[in-house]
Amino acid sequence: MPKQSAFKTITEPSRKIKVWREADVVVVGGGPGGVGSAIAAARTGAKTILIERYGYLGGMATGGLVNIIPNLSDMSGKQYVFGIVQEMIDRLDKRGGTSYPAKKDWGTTDKKVVDHYLDANLGWFYVRHDFNRNKECVLYTAVVDPEILKDEFNDMVLESGAEMLLHSWGVEPIMEGNTARGVIFESKSGRQAILAKVVIDSTGDGDMFVRAGAEFDGRLDNKHRDAWLALNWFCGNVDISKWDNFKKSQPDKYKELMDDLSKKGGYTRPYYGVLKNQPNTAWYHCMQPQPESTDAMDVEQLSRIEIRARKRTTITFDFMKKNVPGFENSFIMLTAPQLGTQGGRRVIGEYTLSEKDMVSEEVFEDTIVVLANNDHKEISARHPAVCIPYRCLVPKKLDGLLVACRAFSSEDLVNNAFNIIPHCMCYGQAAGTAAALAVKAGVQPRKVDYKKLHDVLVKQGVHLPEIK
Ligand SMILES: Cc1cc2nc3c(=O)[nH]c(=O)nc-3n(C[C@H](O)[C@H](O)[C@H](O)COP(=O)(O)OP(=O)(O)OC[C@H]3O[C@@H](n4cnc5c(N)ncnc54)[C@H](O)[C@@H]3O)c2cc1C
Repeated sequence: MPKQSAFKTITEPSRKIKVWREADVVVVGGGPGGVGSAIAAARTGAKTILIERYGYLGGMATGGLVNIIPNLSDMSGKQYVFGIVQEMIDRLDKRGGTSYPAKKDWGTTDKKVVDHYLDANLGWFYVRHDFNRNKECVLYTAVVDPEILKDEFNDMVLESGAEMLLHSWGVEPIMEGNTARGVIFESKSGRQAILAKVVIDSTGDGDMFVRAGAEFDGRLDNKHRDAWLALNWFCGNVDISKWDNFKKSQPDKYKELMDDLSKKGGYTRPYYGVLKNQPNTAWYHCMQPQPESTDAMDVEQLSRIEIRARKRTTITFDFMKKNVPGFENSFIMLTAPQLGTQGGRRVIGEYTLSEKDMVSEEVFEDTIVVLANNDHKEISARHPAVCIPYRCLVPKKLDGLLVACRAFSSEDLVNNAFNIIPHCMCYGQAAGTAAALAVKAGVQPRKVDYKKLHDVLVKQGVHLPEIK
């Protein structure tokens, strides 16, 4: 790609645009972070508007077909994530839209239960090696039905009293000096504005804070999965037991086939769908590692990768159907409407979560959530939980804006372990509550009374340590 300076430029004429609404809080992006933010802000009394570029809520949890909600407990089975995440699971449960290990199995080392998830290739989500017991154990992790979740998220947001606008792309924060005062968005109705006292950036990629001029860290290590884009898909009508028998009875033949598929550019390690009533579905989470740098903010790369990922999908499907017992009558049930990435730009906040926090016992006075620390091997055995401070959501210098999504202030490898769906919903719950409290108190979000924020979150069902 030519350097930016090599491009010809034009100057856009300035123009007057319609103020569509005035609100206390506007949330940009309706993924896990945005849904948590909007619900919490509205429930805490703020006039709240949520805008989302696509026609549904949930971001990667629904449209990305990344429908696994992991790390809700630590390895001993102790639950950490509560609040809006647990409420979502309870509501989906009533509609048959989720499944998870029975409570008695959280933390179990029972081989039969462990093997169920390992056989389904779902090990990373459900199983960890517990160095304290020197055994594999099962975590509290839920899978959710993405279609039911889209509808349930609509209900939860609307019941909270927040207003939402779909098909609306947030393009620019409205700035007065260093303070955000709302957003400009584009849609089929044209370019319009929403004025607000607090903007919450839940775009995942930090579209708002970058354009507001916040400092950020965009470094990603191309060797790690968080730097890769992915296009996920479901393969339907797979005879899973036939496939399983083939793998177990002819492992060498299966390996030979998968090596061949890999050489052809296909994807070789799907999961068995473990949702109720989906016994014949294989889930493909297809990472697209890049030889060169990966930049999910570069539309040329996004286009190239999307086209290649769709080709890899059909290469995989055609190969499996032709060669692998169990796939004879299968079909491509659904490809994700959106490419996804796990990493990206991270705001530089008042506090940056770092490697040293993985081995710290510190309970911050502004702790907004305590998360199970399951991904740091021996360290996790000694430090099973990590406190996340509110300051990770507050950009340095910039006022009127909070960050509640995977772009929270954190080092890249730490971000990788603490940016998943339930975590982002928790950050949203805290940011939305804090934004509403800031509006009520007439202060900037960075000046929110931590004790008050703590007490309101606890009242909402979030489990937090005592703060003196
Ligand atoms: C292949 C893959 C597998 C993964 N597997 C899992 C898993 O199994 N479990 C898990 O918990 N996590 C998983 N993750 C990580 C997880 O998907 C993300 O970390 C999580 O979704 C982040 O939530 P978010 O709210 O920050 O962003 P997103 O889910 O990306 O949501 C952002 C939302 O904002 C909207 N948006 C973006 N820009 C704008 C804009 N300018 N204007 C308006 N709307 C906008 C988007 O459309 C989207 O709805 C996976 C990620 C990948 C890539």
